[in-house]
Amino acid sequence: MRIALTTLGCKLNQYETWQMASSLAKAEIVPFSEIADIYVVNTCTVTKHSDFRSRQLIRQAKRRNPEARVIVTGCYAQTQKEVLSALPEVDLVMPNEDKSSILAVINSLSQEKLPVNETLEAGFLADYTRAFVKIQDGCDNQCSYCVVRIARGRQKSVTPEAVIEEVSRLSEKGYQEVVLTGIQLGGYGTDLSQTTSLARLLLSLGAVKSLRRLRLSSIEPLNFTDELIEIMTSLDNLCHHFHIPLQSGDDEILRKMNRDYSASDFWKLVNRLKNNFPEMGLGTDVIVGFPGETDSQFENTYNLIEELPFSYLHVFSFSPRPGTAAAQMPAQVMPEIIKQRSQRLRALGKEKKLSFQKIFVGQTLSVLIEKKYDDETGFLTGLSDNYLRIFTENDDKIINKICNINIHKIYNNKMLGRVT
Ligand code: SF4
Repeated sequence: MRIALTTLGCKLNQYETWQMASSLAKAEIVPFSEIADIYVVNTCTVTKHSDFRSRQLIRQAKRRNPEARVIVTGCYAQTQKEVLSALPEVDLVMPNEDKSSILAVINSLSQEKLPVNETLEAGFLADYTRAFVKIQDGCDNQCSYCVVRIARGRQKSVTPEAVIEEVSRLSEKGYQEVVLTGIQLGGYGTDLSQTTSLARLLLSLGAVKSLRRLRLSSIEPLNFTDELIEIMTSLDNLCHHFHIPLQSGDDEILRKMNRDYSASDFWKLVNRLKNNFPEMGLGTDVIVGFPGETDSQFENTYNLIEELPFSYLHVFSFSPRPGTAAAQMPAQVMPEIIKQRSQRLRALGKEKKLSFQKIFVGQTLSVLIEKKYDDETGFLTGLSDNYLRIFTENDDKIINKICNINIHKIYNNKMLGRVT
């Protein structure tokens, strides 16, 4: 049986696709662009565009092999089951919680039965140097624009013992970097019978001797407690890279988003982190065109982002998500205005990225070499501790090693350096 899987959306969704593929390892897993008997489309619904892309992939699958069965899962499938079930290309809409039983689901659909794979690999291996580990799912916050919490439900944390075991095993196997992922990482542990926190989990992970690098995915501003910052500062293996969703730099819009912090709180947090981690890479998410966003409210966001030391931006155009409070709010912003504002912010994002890159020319960065960039140039590429993509000409022997690289120039927006 040939099975093809594809994913849209966040790292957690990618992790879950990997887990499904791993439990189906007794089948022949083929790229999504090839002919398969079963296609699994792991959808996303964070914006209207994600819904559109999900439907496109579903149609592509059936066009590639009209005889194939198409299974649709993920957050779009979770929130819009009726819409997707009505598509003629869809054979089955599978809820997120059934992803772990994909083998049984496929066996119930097809004549040929797949055996259970006993050798399940832990951790999502993004590129054989870096592994992703899911520490929680769901979210207890109530941001007014967010459909993810509807799709994923309430917070569910993995126990600290299970996380520590998985991280230790992966790092002992030779993975140089582990990335902790989830929907709302900062809420980790509050739902467990023995409540704990992300800070305490990090402290335990800091003691895993074989773990060279630990990276965190996105953390909400309100989750940066004093304890968390203190522990982060004390860890040797924590990457100085933080992704903190801002969403808006205007207090009134933040209030309407139900985000419980002000622009000034965010400004203070970033400056505090900058003092503790002067070379940190800092990313953020920002939503443009939230209902009622005026020109001056957008300027507040623009100015705050301009002022803060972001190294990259993810800009999202607001689109009303069914079932959310924001979808019912009056004064939805015109699409042309959203487009113009997004373009301005994306241009600012590019400028900020370049300014950040320039700081490190002449300096030495610690880089995990992941792979060959291409066969033509012979360049290798990897990510620095502070999330800069670096290119270097060297022998393949340094792949999956953490090297010190002296940056000598930026060429075509790429940072080039030499191993020291
Ligand atoms: S913190 Fe807000 S935006 Fe993030 S998943 Fe929870 S509700 Fe959605």
